[in-house]
Amino acid sequence: MRRYSAFAIAREAARYHQGWERAWRSPEPKKEYDVVIVGAGGHGLATAYYLGKNHGITNIAVVEKGWLGGGNTGRNTTIIRSNYLQDPSAAIYEKARSLYEDLSQDLNMNVMFSPRGVMMLAQTEHEKRGYLRTAHANSLQGVVTEFITPAKVKELVPIINLSGPRYPVLGALWQARGGTARHDAVAWGYARACSAMGMDIIQKCEVTGVEQSGGQVTGVETTRGRIGCKKLALVVAGHSGALADMAGFRLPIESVALQALVSEPIKPAIDVVVMANTVHGYMSQSDKGELVIGGGADGFNNYTQRGSFHHVEETVRALVETFPIISRLKMMRQWGGIVDMTGDRSPIISRTPLGGCFINGGWGTGGFKSIPGSGWAMAELVANGTPGPLASAFGLERFREGRFIDESVAAGVAH
Ligand SMILES: Cc1cc2nc3c(=O)[nH]c(=O)nc-3n(C[C@H](O)[C@H](O)[C@H](O)COP(=O)(O)OP(=O)(O)OC[C@H]3O[C@@H](n4cnc5c(N)ncnc54)[C@H](O)[C@@H]3O)c2cc1C
Repeated sequence: MRRYSAFAIAREAARYHQGWERAWRSPEPKKEYDVVIVGAGGHGLATAYYLGKNHGITNIAVVEKGWLGGGNTGRNTTIIRSNYLQDPSAAIYEKARSLYEDLSQDLNMNVMFSPRGVMMLAQTEHEKRGYLRTAHANSLQGVVTEFITPAKVKELVPIINLSGPRYPVLGALWQARGGTARHDAVAWGYARACSAMGMDIIQKCEVTGVEQSGGQVTGVETTRGRIGCKKLALVVAGHSGALADMAGFRLPIESVALQALVSEPIKPAIDVVVMANTVHGYMSQSDKGELVIGGGADGFNNYTQRGSFHHVEETVRALVETFPIISRLKMMRQWGGIVDMTGDRSPIISRTPLGGCFINGGWGTGGFKSIPGSGWAMAELVANGTPGPLASAFGLERFREGRFIDESVAAGVAH
């Protein structure tokens, strides 16, 4: 694969851009692989990438029922932060955030990581106490965050209304090296790097069954025929329950739709990410100028990948109080993704009751930020058969043993 570089752009400009190669191959599935990964979202692709890069395993197929990055990876609002409360969460999210810092160089693809800073507004006394606690926990965990005053909030976000009639801003939890990245580019970058290592990314290939013999996985049935494998990784977010069912076990996961919307593009108005968890909404501005706005998850289980008017109304009504200028904007698009929620709002990176079959899911409404760290930890689990330090707390057995990793507060408005 030819590397992307300033020289390559100049060379192609001189020959009318005729020499660019396809970013990844679209091969036919082989009969057998060492590892089959189901789901070509960010987490599945990152798992494949770190299996190759860190463990030298490249006889891998990543099997995707739609198009790569077409699930939640291409539908999220791209917030990256690591200011979680519990130690195992802070460790994996901070690993991910730090990998994002030079992911563009590592993948040789510009993922547009923009560490513009993320603030989580405290708008009740209770929320303020919660964030102060998180800031203290983060300083013990080596995660750089601070609790900032309303005056500092106003300095960073001039368009904010500090004295909202219902919920005045009492300060904010601020992570200066949090931010955003271009979601599609993250998927494309991993896919290109995996393809360059000789892995097969097979799109439009739905897994319809999991084959096993003597308690050990032997392959998958797909809409493009049987594919044999020694190890199987299920990395399908909102479809985790469906894939687990095929493999013969149940998961403590519920699937619900989560929605987002963007406004018409405007001139630069806000250059940090703001999350307002009490009123339930969050906002950042994209490079195109659109305000990217996210709200809450549906209150009932479903597999719907589209938006609905009442969510837009609820979210915008909440945010107008804190950002009065948005009342005059037009909405351009809205959409939804199927997110996979666990009871403790923490992910599952685990062995399963089926030998050779591993699962990565339950990232819920906040798993874009964790893609590099999750892929790193999942690759370690799949390669060695046992979890490494990043994944050891996230096993399925925690639900049986009552060792929950409660992030329902840190997950907050959930991104
Ligand atoms: C509206 C919205 C906003 C969000 N905002 C944020 C945010 O700001 N920050 C953040 O950190 N996170 C956010 N998230 C969450 C984040 O998007 C997800 O946690 C993350 O993208 C999950 O990635 P994934 O690779 O696990 O799943 P996905 O990207 O969904 O990939 C799973 C893939 O599996 C495929 N698949 C499913 N079943 C099968 C099958 N049977 N056979 C083959 N393939 C199959 C699907 O087609 C899909 O492509 C948001 C999510 C949504 C929906």
